[in-house]
Amino acid sequence: MARYTGPVCRLCRREGMKLFLKGDKCYTEQCAITRRNYAPGQHGQSRKKVTEYGMQLREKQKVRRFYGISESQMVKYFLMADKAKGITGENLLRLLELRLDNVVYRMGFASSRAEARQLVTHGHFLVNGSKVDIPSVILSAGDTIQVKEKSRSSEKIKSLIENHNGNTVKWISVDLDQFKGSIVTEPTREDIDIPVEEHLIVELYSK
Ligand code: SF4
Repeated sequence: MARYTGPVCRLCRREGMKLFLKGDKCYTEQCAITRRNYAPGQHGQSRKKVTEYGMQLREKQKVRRFYGISESQMVKYFLMADKAKGITGENLLRLLELRLDNVVYRMGFASSRAEARQLVTHGHFLVNGSKVDIPSVILSAGDTIQVKEKSRSSEKIKSLIENHNGNTVKWISVDLDQFKGSIVTEPTREDIDIPVEEHLIVELYSK
């Protein structure tokens, strides 16, 4: 399935929550969820009874949109999560969190996942010292990500580092002087701040 390229704030309004798809704008009064927190379209404000299938579908779409992934990628991650030991729903979220584009975003080296994906694709990062330009690469504990020497003078990267407040999620550490970050440990469910009921996604794909 092709990547969605339409207005992204519509996606947040459809899910009824902030998906943080527009970087800094998401933290301002300009956010569409702050101004119009109802679904887009003519019937957006009408209340509908949601079926069990509808709830499962919404949770799956929410996660897809959060991470900006296609349906076929989502199915692939579900199959990987299902094969791994542990709780399938948690495995699924962990895999998504460990994607290179998400880790770059979590490190604060991009203001949104979409921007992180673009910076990775343009070859601005080294993973464990080697250039990697595939956003979907799954990382593990101990992996390091560093902005390439040549890319450190780019206006975009300079501004992101200058405006970085040094904070990140607890399973990641950053060293802004070295333009570098590393994965301290793989995230647990408590570390993943996404308000989603992942068991509904498992139910949907297990049918
Ligand atoms: Fe979603 Fe950000 Fe748009 Fe708000 S500004 S609706 S959080 S993408």
